[in-house]
Amino acid sequence: MPAAGGEFGLIARHFTHRTSTGAWASQGVGDDCALIDLADRRLAVTSDMLLAGRHFFPDVDPESLGHKALAVNLSDLAAAGASPRAFFLAIALPAADEAWLTAFSRGLMALARAHGCALLGGDTTRTPSLREGPGPLTICITAMGELPAGAGLSRAGAAPGDEIWVSGELGDAAAGLKLALGEISADMADAATLRERLEWPQPRVALGEALRGVASAAMDVSDGLLGDLRHILERSGVGAELVWERIPLSPALRRQPLAVQRDCALAGGDDYELLFTAPPARRAALLAAGRAAKVPLAHIGQIGAAGLVLRDAAGAPIELAASGYDHFA
Ligand code: ADP
Ligand code: MG
Repeated sequence: MPAAGGEFGLIARHFTHRTSTGAWASQGVGDDCALIDLADRRLAVTSDMLLAGRHFFPDVDPESLGHKALAVNLSDLAAAGASPRAFFLAIALPAADEAWLTAFSRGLMALARAHGCALLGGDTTRTPSLREGPGPLTICITAMGELPAGAGLSRAGAAPGDEIWVSGELGDAAAGLKLALGEISADMADAATLRERLEWPQPRVALGEALRGVASAAMDVSDGLLGDLRHILERSGVGAELVWERIPLSPALRRQPLAVQRDCALAGGDDYELLFTAPPARRAALLAAGRAAKVPLAHIGQIGAAGLVLRDAAGAPIELAASGYDHFA
């Protein structure tokens, strides 16, 4: 039976407590990271879990899995504008496979080194043996980043008149997944591009840092553009209009049928691009942030008073059947 309100209804009913139970409180409840104020700075903390069979194929290249397990967490730090500092790794393994672990940790630590993010602890355990075979390989990473006091990006803060921007290109990872599931086909070069985007996401850390004080609201796109944008709209109490033709798509995705392009770019998951808003007066600062981070940025729409509308270039509304990925919907 689907849970009422889906994954986010469950979180709101059971795991969101507005009253503090300790000395530390978060400024970022419902955001990509918890933001904790220390004496002279702010700590950003996020936790993400990956399960074999749900988030990755059990036979995935372990080096890419190590990379991706940390990348999805660094992406949440980027969404808060935080600089990665440390992470903890909890892992449940069906077996002790030395070759697999060597490759996994190579992918994990290469990304960690690239971002100066140290592995400071964790937990290692074995999955239970079940009648159907061992329980799924499970990886949970908690990552911590640093912000200046009072700084950081949040999903709240978008205001009517703000422009909506997104980094990179959307939908490739979802197309890579469809390809792996045999739901679409592509030539070998496109297939390699799309699979690479699924398995080796690049967290937009430098862009997040450069957007501090520039973006009015931000988050990372992990569950599909429309569903994720709704989180910004709800938290900011605003609406939005998007223009389909402005949504950045790779040449590989553009070679897919239009229905696949739309499904992947609007409701696909695993993009790990930054979605953010800013008043038009900050456009020059925002483009400078994109140049400094060497990430292309696309202006895809406008914040309005209420509702979410997608239009084509001529201004005609496009039906929004696609709504974003939700584990319990
Ligand atoms: P993201 O996709 O950015 O990782 P999620 O969609 O997983 O974020 O979570 C949305 C919000 O709900 C986040 O602020 C997250 O910290 C919070 N959250 C999710 N699961 C739990 C939980 N079990 N307990 C407390 N907070 C949770
Ligand atoms: Mg996120």
